Amino acid sequence: MERKIPLARPDITEAEIEAVVEVLRSGVLSIGPRVQEFEERIKKFTGRRHAVAVNSGTSGLHLLIRAYGIGEGDEVITTSFSFVASANCILFERAKPVFVDIDPSTYNLDVSLIEEKITPRTKAILPVDVFGQPVDMEAIMEIARRYGLVVIEDSCEAIGSKRRGKLAGTAGDAGVYAFYPNKQMTTAEGGVIVTDDDRVAELCRSMRSQGRAVTGTWLHHERLGYNYRMSELHAALGVVQLKRLPEFIRRRQEVANRYRELLAGVEGVVLPAVAEDVEVMSWFVYVVRFLPPLNRDRIMEYLLSRGIECKPYFPPIHLQPFYRELGYREGDLPVTEEVARQTLALPFYNHLTREEQEYVAEEVKKAVSLC
Ligand SMILES: *Cc1c(COP(=O)(O)O)cnc(C)c1O
Repeated sequence: MERKIPLARPDITEAEIEAVVEVLRSGVLSIGPRVQEFEERIKKFTGRRHAVAVNSGTSGLHLLIRAYGIGEGDEVITTSFSFVASANCILFERAKPVFVDIDPSTYNLDVSLIEEKITPRTKAILPVDVFGQPVDMEAIMEIARRYGLVVIEDSCEAIGSKRRGKLAGTAGDAGVYAFYPNKQMTTAEGGVIVTDDDRVAELCRSMRSQGRAVTGTWLHHERLGYNYRMSELHAALGVVQLKRLPEFIRRRQEVANRYRELLAGVEGVVLPAVAEDVEVMSWFVYVVRFLPPLNRDRIMEYLLSRGIECKPYFPPIHLQPFYRELGYREGDLPVTEEVARQTLALPFYNHLTREEQEYVAEEVKKAVSLC
């Protein structure tokens, strides 16, 4: 039989199915108690004063860019080694993403390169916790305080990760988590904003629902808003998944440990490096790097032919076609570009079995000897 091992797979039990069916039976499909419950639980989990649930991580990032008044003529310092949404949210408001290069070990943005990019137009820093690894928020907040910048943490890949006692997403002015099905926990589609800032939370709450005042009537619109609401079905799914998150994080750590054991010492293969002061790593994906003369693309072709789904994570944002049209160029970010040519995400999910991982590891070793 032809084998097929997917890259990612959500972990859905009867409890999630029942929770969603119960919402369907209740007749309240939007703006109801489940979204409130989900927000309460996120608040409790993160310790932040506010949680605003939205229909995607991208929506959450967009609302924060607007809530902080970032717009035309403003610059936001961020990373190009990320999912495209973390820079698109800046473009939505006609502000300019200013990319800094990354640390070749953790793949997070290189904090020592931030200051040289700050100009009088810089309004904010938007760091990303890449692949689940929390960025050095202490250093970023220190720079932000000195220059009076806002910090929006894109923790869409890092719910539950902890560094120096701080959960990812809770050290900046605001943070966002995302719940697409390949994330650690899912609401099918969805995201949530967390912040201690009352004004920003209220603005986000209003803008996610057509600019209504939080206490106003249905057809009174105080400001330009969107329909970025999370539905009751999605929130019910999220409540169950959030309860199971500690179990997910534990399982994913076990899967990561097994890959480390199975792939250790393969010449030219660099395994993920977690910074020493990361106490909890909530693994999003498992990304390995193939050093020259190994050829990542040929290795990927081989693995795909063996039924192993794998993807280059990430093609740099600044080299996407519409970013090139904005003037970003190959050569702008040498470390990002080099890493991006060499990295590959392997199958990674809660219930990946040892036997499946052994198969993946054997095939990776064969690919390395052939490519
Ligand atoms: C998943 C993700 C998002 C948000 O994605 P949505 O599909 O809109 O929920 C944003 N930034 C990063 C880095 C992500 O990985």
